[in-house]
Amino acid sequence: MKFSIITLFPDMLSGPLEISMLKKARDNGLVDIEVINLREFGVGSGKQVDDTPYGGGDGMLLKPEPVVNAIEHTKSQQQATDNSMVILLTPQGDSYTQATARQLSGESHIILVCGHYEGFDERIRAFVDWQISIGDYVLTGGEIPAMAVVDSVTRLLPGVLGGERSAVDDSFADGETLEYPQYTRPNQFRGMEVPDVLLSGNHGEIDQWRQAQARQRRRG
Ligand code: SAM
Repeated sequence: MKFSIITLFPDMLSGPLEISMLKKARDNGLVDIEVINLREFGVGSGKQVDDTPYGGGDGMLLKPEPVVNAIEHTKSQQQATDNSMVILLTPQGDSYTQATARQLSGESHIILVCGHYEGFDERIRAFVDWQISIGDYVLTGGEIPAMAVVDSVTRLLPGVLGGERSAVDDSFADGETLEYPQYTRPNQFRGMEVPDVLLSGNHGEIDQWRQAQARQRRRG
């Protein structure tokens, strides 16, 4: 699976892409992540990517030509067999959930478009397949939302997580159940003990206890 992230600030992504699970998944060829600098598609000799809003108002908007040219260029670079899904990150989009992540993990190529400043020219919406919000709050740019999508989808790809069941037992795996409580050494910590069942070695009872605990933690 491949992600292409279109951003005016590639440096915001380099750290998260180069550590932990994402680095391992990339090194092992389980996911391919490219970062595309929107500036390269800027207009004129100044490579302009933003402009003031018609009708007045604060801030700058991303211009339509650089963003749409970047999307079309990125699509044209893919294998003819790869379907590209274009996602625009916007606080006005559909709410992102674990179910969305699972759905996206079945795609072969996802293009993530990061807005910035006051946002983007409205006409850009006509060139994307899906508009996604990572929550009802406003961030400075689409880079953190893009990373949330890349991280949450990548960990669902086969072979990325160490244990086969890691993602299956995670919170929201079935939409609403939260993960059961987990403990590690030491057995006693500041007067709090690990539940006896987890020390029993009886895997049937441990499974039952975990399922019951997860049901109690259910959301809603
Ligand atoms: N003026 C815009 C509005 O009120 O809808 C917000 C612009 S925001 C400062 C700049 C960019 O950050 C957006 O275009 C979008 O790409 C990204 N962004 C901010 N919050 C987001 C969220 N909750 N989910 C997804 N993207 C977000």
